Amino acid sequence: MSSPGAAQSNGQEPSPDTEPSIFTRIAAREIPAIIVAETDRVLAFDDIAPQAPVHVIVTPKTQQYRNVVELAAGDPGLLAELVDVARGIAEERAGGQFRLVFNTGEAAGQTVFHVHAHLLGGRLTEGSLNAQ
Ligand code: 5GP
Repeated sequence: MSSPGAAQSNGQEPSPDTEPSIFTRIAAREIPAIIVAETDRVLAFDDIAPQAPVHVIVTPKTQQYRNVVELAAGDPGLLAELVDVARGIAEERAGGQFRLVFNTGEAAGQTVFHVHAHLLGGRLTEGSLNAQ
């Protein structure tokens, strides 16, 4: 019996069943990161290469879901929890106004196939999808 992620694998992206992802290793404190929020199921930390004054990665601790489509289908409550963690960080660091981006697929810029949101805030350009 395979996981939901493996069931939808296209054979071109890492399977969630193999190596720990970089975000799993951050959650395990094997790789250092500036952790800004944590619940039992969700972790948030500053992006190592920020694209905006506030740029936080918000991710489930499980790497079972590779992208937001899989997460929404497999555990919508966890997706809602992730959004609520992002909202709380944005309240503290961006006046409650923010952009939440889920890159989904290589052609959309996804490089880490462990679902995560980019929480972007602070001086974002009106009417633009660029972060800066
Ligand atoms: P993606 O391109 O998959 O949507 O986003 C992956 C994000 O993870 C990138 O913005 C990248 O800067 C960030 N990232 C990759 N490796 C690390 C790391 O080791 N530490 C931190 N804090 N962020 C990372």
